[in-house]
Formats: sequence, structure tokens, C-alpha cells
Amino acid sequence: MEICRNIQLIPERFFSSNVYVVGENELTLIDAGGPNAAKKYIFREMKSTGIDPRKVGKIIITHAHPDHVGGVPEFLEVSEPEVMIHEADTRLLKLGGIKPGRMLSDGDVVRAEGCELRVIHTPGHSPGGICLYDADRKILFSGDTVFAYGIGRFDLPGGSLRVLVSSLARLLELDVETLLPGHGDVVLRGAVKNIGTNYRYALSLMGESNVRGIP
Ligand SMILES: [Zn+2]
Repeated sequence: MEICRNIQLIPERFFSSNVYVVGENELTLIDAGGPNAAKKYIFREMKSTGIDPRKVGKIIITHAHPDHVGGVPEFLEVSEPEVMIHEADTRLLKLGGIKPGRMLSDGDVVRAEGCELRVIHTPGHSPGGICLYDADRKILFSGDTVFAYGIGRFDLPGGSLRVLVSSLARLLELDVETLLPGHGDVVLRGAVKNIGTNYRYALSLMGESNVRGIP
């Protein structure tokens, strides 16, 4: 389903993540879903909206958990995408037998069709977790760092609540209208409020009180 111009959402199913397809001709995928997800439903859903999976030229992985990265090998079978991931999660990716094509760092820019995506390193859920920010359209792809109504788990290996809170604080500096997370609902308008609410929730888990000036 098209959620913004040039961005399709393939909602999560089974053990998988939301997958976003950016572009119409030269496609960029944000996350690839879980193992076998592409063959089970992602290819089919892409084709049903007129998108050819063989046109995927880039796959940006928000972090190397299996429900986001497991589908990469299936895309590698039908196309030759450049796989991009933050350098701190490359070890996890290689454990899954996938070789990264480009290692990303905070501040890097990835060009997709019709937009530029700035990499924001947001560890806490995973050491190499990233968000991708389209400043022109105020869109944030937030992986498992923050959801519409909650925050990512911080109890998995390499996770940390304190680090996640700092990452959320960084996201609050951005002007975000639309939030496109790795799981669950998307937020089309006023998403800075959702990020603020979820940041305060994360702070409360640390036993700290509210910080003034947060929306
Ligand atoms: Zn995850």
C-alpha cells in the first residue's frame, strides 16, 4: 500500500518486520523482512502493486535482527542489490552469511529515487541500529528504535535502555511529521508527538522525571 508518494509499505506478517519500498524504477528497500518472508508474501505483494522485485538496487537494513535481515538472501537470488548496514551491526549480519556492500555511519546520506535519506545512528535496541531521515518530507524510518506507540526492546544482546533514551533524545531534535517504524502502525501526521510520548515513557522506565520542553 502506498503511504506517501513513492513509498510503499508491505506490513509485517509472521516473524517479520515492516518492509518499505522507496521508488518506482530504481528501488530501495528499507529492511527485508524475516527468513522466507520474501517468498511467502513480500514478492507477491510487490508484484500486486506493480513493483518488480528484480529492480531492487539497494537494501538498507535498520539493524541486523533476523526479522529485518532474514529476507536479504531471497532478494540476492533475484537481483543484485547493494546491502547497507551500520558498521556496528555488520558482525551480526555476517553471522547470517550476508556480506554488506556499504557500511554506514552516522551522518551518511543514501540516495534513493526521489529522496535523500540521512543516516542517524540510534543504538539502544541494537548496537548498529539506525533511523533514516528524509528532511525534505519530514519522514523518519525508525526501525525498532521507536514505534507509533512504544519503544524497541533493550533487553536483547547489545541493548541498553540508557543508550536508547539518548537515541530517542536525538530523534526529538528532528522535525518529524511521518513515522515509518519497523513494526506496527505508521504515523502519517504529527509524529513528533509520538516520539515525545515514547521518550517520556523510556525516561520513566529509568526512574527519571519528565524533561521540560519535550512535545
Ligand atoms: Zn529488532
